[in-house]
Amino acid sequence: MAPKTGEMLHLRGNALSKGEPVALPLTQSSMYHLPGTPDGQASYGRVDNPTWVHLEHVLSHLEDAPCLSFPSGMAAISAALFATVKAGSRLLIPSDGYYVTRLLADRFLSRLGVIVEERPTIAFAEGGFDGFDVVFAESPSNPGLDMIDLTEVADRVRAAGGITIADNTTMTPLGQRPLDLGIDVVVSSDTKAMGGHSDMLMGHVASRNGDIMERVGEWRKISGSIPGPHEAWLLHRGLETLDVRFDRMCSSAEVLAERLAAHPAVKQVRYPGLADDPSHKLAQEQTTRFGFLLSLTLNSEDQAEAFINNCPLLRPATSFGGVHSSAERRARWGDDVDPAFIRLSVGCEPVEELWQAIEASLNAL
Ligand SMILES: *Cc1c(COP(=O)(O)O)cnc(C)c1O
Repeated sequence: MAPKTGEMLHLRGNALSKGEPVALPLTQSSMYHLPGTPDGQASYGRVDNPTWVHLEHVLSHLEDAPCLSFPSGMAAISAALFATVKAGSRLLIPSDGYYVTRLLADRFLSRLGVIVEERPTIAFAEGGFDGFDVVFAESPSNPGLDMIDLTEVADRVRAAGGITIADNTTMTPLGQRPLDLGIDVVVSSDTKAMGGHSDMLMGHVASRNGDIMERVGEWRKISGSIPGPHEAWLLHRGLETLDVRFDRMCSSAEVLAERLAAHPAVKQVRYPGLADDPSHKLAQEQTTRFGFLLSLTLNSEDQAEAFINNCPLLRPATSFGGVHSSAERRARWGDDVDPAFIRLSVGCEPVEELWQAIEASLNAL
């Protein structure tokens, strides 16, 4: 069910006592006053922090599930994987998803005896899921924006006795609800749209499976992969405007995708909201919005660079989901895409102003 973001804004306020600050206090402390026998109070900064606790209250409201926060998206992905695999486990990951997830699997998990297999998102279910202990999905995939049927994956993996994890970074809990589709664990890079201001890195893990969350919490406590209180505070502040930002970004992306597709300098546009996009049907069934990410392919690498660098309303930067629109050629990182393929993250600029800048940059090519 869609989260009530109005209720989310008042989660803290409705639990306040007279005289307490309405805004979330930032608690920077490694020590807690703890005379005598500890009985459940905050004990030490690697284990407890009141700013995380409130952030996680808000994240849990958004996910409708228990949540734990982490210092980056990769820290959250690491926690979810280390909590669920062991030597001899078979792990399936997308070959075209966020590339650092593949690095984690190849460089670390496989050396610990995890058997890692990769499949492209578009053909993820081909070959079935028998014998996989953990299936890690990313839909839509970053940067290709291919989608898979998460309900089908969840059902088939569960029937085969495995666990599913979905990276929901690109959609946020407002755009897609993998746990409601039957996925066991959601991971997210909150560095992106959740934080929304490109000023910190954070991530979270959400699951309705108590055993998995217990392991994830243990991983955080023991590995020391803990968020800084200031970052937690910044993410909490960002979440307060997630609803308005996400709404504006997705609405603008829908407008821009149509216009980009009609522009003569653009060879191809991928956006799940376009009626002829290969992801459109699944997006209609499985997401509540079509997202704020789109991709466009121009005629050459030089044109792509010129388009990005000459547009005053596009930050030439990696990462996405911020209030400032940004774009980059993904081939510069070795993604298996056309050299003129651009991932564009639509920000919060007024859409007509943004389109004028984008169109002028395309017309100048
Ligand atoms: C950015 C990203 C990550 C990693 O997040 P960090 O916060 O950079 O560690 C993971 N998955 C996806 C889909 C991402 O876009």
